[in-house]
Amino acid sequence: MRDCLFCKIINKEVPSEIIYEDDLCIAFKDINPRARVHLLIVPRKHIPTIADLEEGDEALMGHLIGVAKKLAEKNECKSYQLLFNVGREAGQIIFHVHLHLMGN
Ligand code: 5GP
Ligand code: ZN
Repeated sequence: MRDCLFCKIINKEVPSEIIYEDDLCIAFKDINPRARVHLLIVPRKHIPTIADLEEGDEALMGHLIGVAKKLAEKNECKSYQLLFNVGREAGQIIFHVHLHLMGN
């Protein structure tokens, strides 16, 4: 998707601190961390918001949660938050679905 920052990060057109990649998703450090560990887990597929999910995307979304769990373990997070902001009023600023992992 043209003009999508996270698509550009996925395509390595914009630099980021990538810490995990597989066929379905990528995870990188949030540029403005709000926790000791603040990672964004992002599907390679451009989906603007959770509200745009279609039938067939369930496995992909489950995969993001599984990756978040593993990254939380790897980073020794004792407890953590997993968050999707959905819509501008809820604080979403990047319209490419991303799961926030925030842990201490
Ligand atoms: P949202 O508010 O859309 O749920 O979250 C977007 C997140 O992306 C924010 O926490 C923000 O700090 C992060 N972010 C915005 N621009 C960049 C960037 O260029 N690089 C990285 N790594 N994170 C970004
Ligand atoms: Zn995108």
